[in-house]
Amino acid sequence: MYIISIVIEKERTEAALFDKEYKLLLKKTGELEDAAKLCGALISESGISHADIDYVGIAADSSLVSPCSVASELEKSIGLKCLPTTLTDARALGEAYGLEDASTLVMLKIDEKIECGIIIDKKAYTGANNQGKSIAHTVINFDGFECSCGNRGCFEAYACNSGLNRIAAESGVDGAGALTHKQLFEMNTPEAKQAQMLYVKYLATGITNIINLFQPRYLVLDGPFTEVGDALMNPMMDIVLREQYTHSMSNKGEVRFADVKSDTALIGAALLGR
Ligand SMILES: [Zn+2]
Repeated sequence: MYIISIVIEKERTEAALFDKEYKLLLKKTGELEDAAKLCGALISESGISHADIDYVGIAADSSLVSPCSVASELEKSIGLKCLPTTLTDARALGEAYGLEDASTLVMLKIDEKIECGIIIDKKAYTGANNQGKSIAHTVINFDGFECSCGNRGCFEAYACNSGLNRIAAESGVDGAGALTHKQLFEMNTPEAKQAQMLYVKYLATGITNIINLFQPRYLVLDGPFTEVGDALMNPMMDIVLREQYTHSMSNKGEVRFADVKSDTALIGAALLGR
């Protein structure tokens, strides 16, 4: 048996054929709406038949399309069982597959907003209504910054790009409003240093909450903010290691940056029927 995996992102759609050991055999790239065409090309070029495909795992950026709608339409058009998930969950599953002893893993993606993928016993956790991982809207500062959800003080309101710029503005940083994480952390003015320190503190608070909730073996950070590297990770981890409930235990989980290998999401989508 074989598995087809499809990943739909902003720039492109990728599809890959895997064998039953989850080894990638063939990969195709196309436009956003090309999923069915790519499945057909994988099957014909590899010389197998539809009956040889066990299922199609689909991961889609839910800000572009609904993974469930894509799966339902594709199932009708190609006649194969389609299993949907979000891009973040697929990346979390793919990351966990490549790491030793990663039965529990949390992936935190910070960009314009915060998305979270939670792997428990090697499966993606969703909760009721598929809303069981809204880490973004846990409150880290009562009566703090207004959040897009209507509440105040949410983790997302501080850690996402607009939160970073709001912290920079309150600290009096020049150019606040349009700064990337990398730009702020490369600045050396006293105002920028103050904003960096505050940002690290809020980020560490949100991450400490995740560790206290899940005790993941791995907590993986993803998104453009990871370009800051050690200048962010080192001071943040000083706080996280001190503040987490298990601070005195030796066997702590590892906080790391995401593997930037492009096939992580494809592997994760291929694992959906495992
Ligand atoms: Zn919120």
